[in-house]
Amino acid sequence: MRAVDIIIRKRDQLELTAEEIQFFVRGLTSGEIPDYQVSAWAMAILLNGMTDQETTDLTLAMANSGEILDLSRIIPIEVDKHSTGGVGDKTTLVVEPIVAACGLPVAKMSGRGLGFSGGTLDKIESIPGFRTDLSQEEFLRLLKDTGLVLSGQSGDLAPADGKLYSLRDVTGTVQSIPLIASSVMSKKIAGGAQAIVLDVKVGSGAFMKNLDEARQLSRLMVAIGKLSGRRVVALLSDMNQPLGTAVGNSLEVKEAIDTLNGNGPADFTEHCMVVAAHMLVIGEKAEDLESARKLAETALRSGKGLEQFRKLVINQGGDSSYIDHPDKFPLAPVIKEITSPLDGFLAQVDAQTIGETSVELGAGRARKEDAIDHSVGIMVHHKVGDEVHAGDVLFTIHASSKAAYEAAAKRCLAACKWSNEPVEPLPLFYEVIGG
Ligand code: URA
Repeated sequence: MRAVDIIIRKRDQLELTAEEIQFFVRGLTSGEIPDYQVSAWAMAILLNGMTDQETTDLTLAMANSGEILDLSRIIPIEVDKHSTGGVGDKTTLVVEPIVAACGLPVAKMSGRGLGFSGGTLDKIESIPGFRTDLSQEEFLRLLKDTGLVLSGQSGDLAPADGKLYSLRDVTGTVQSIPLIASSVMSKKIAGGAQAIVLDVKVGSGAFMKNLDEARQLSRLMVAIGKLSGRRVVALLSDMNQPLGTAVGNSLEVKEAIDTLNGNGPADFTEHCMVVAAHMLVIGEKAEDLESARKLAETALRSGKGLEQFRKLVINQGGDSSYIDHPDKFPLAPVIKEITSPLDGFLAQVDAQTIGETSVELGAGRARKEDAIDHSVGIMVHHKVGDEVHAGDVLFTIHASSKAAYEAAAKRCLAACKWSNEPVEPLPLFYEVIGG
């Protein structure tokens, strides 16, 4: 077999066999197939697509390119949750302790911010001392002893995806539905997941800008799940405006703590309850969504979710006093409000613009090696559909300097549109696929 023939077959819109895909993935992982051929192959896939079977074969080949964690000797069923990435999305920090409090063990491998979307690892590291670089032994021991662990993705899992992703990033081939689906699912399978709840974000602050694309991606990931013997449910959720109020690392951790205390923003709390309920059903802790939701609500109201979060922080070396005294999180030097210049109904609070502005404030990275500032970010006080008056506070900016504040203020106002007519609020979820 030769790599060039496989590229040509994909270029000519032919369906690749499992053997051809395995050959290519083996070659790209070992470095025998050079980057220029991998890039040409990725572009041929972007242009001509892949069938469900090809995408499943690619997913399994990438999952098998490294170690596959087997958690079945430690926990009865490994249920994972994966968000495709958004702005203000601190769901993992609330949902994982809640479902762990309901008796469903959680072994979560999370990522860092990517472009304008935030990452759970960057957020949780706002808590001094919290370690996300666990060895595999530590990861498995914490899962066994405590039922809740949160770490970074080990480089030993799905290394082919790591390599392919970094090439896609610089060859204009990220936006391919089969490549995104196989990238996400290969990491989940390598991490030992048997059942997966996918939170597929739709809108300006997401990879999938419209419902059609989100449906295609969701259906494909559900199909890969079926073909590879995993249960998958995809929740299509809105990402046209930020989720909750806080955008930025320590601001989001504080909001997650507020939420676990029962004082979170309504939209974010509801989002977490729905995701938690789906995890509990797919993880066989509840028969249906209604009873699962009751379990999740009880875990939230009773404070058991917060207790699990506290244990997680302590077990991974974090300073748990920040949970009881969130005022200990360092504040940015400049904290200023932005008010509405107009009366009207908010018709847009653009998630992508808010996400990019937060990154520019220093909450995210322009280059991989950049350090981030945990204290900066944006509090978004109103949602699409809210009636606001001139002078009402729309945003609070947490910035490292006056100049950074001023640039952010301009961009945040530009993210908004007003209407004289009432505007329908945006839904939290659009639909559920699979399950
Ligand atoms: N997230 C991933 O893990 N992979 C992609 O390709 C896109 C988003």
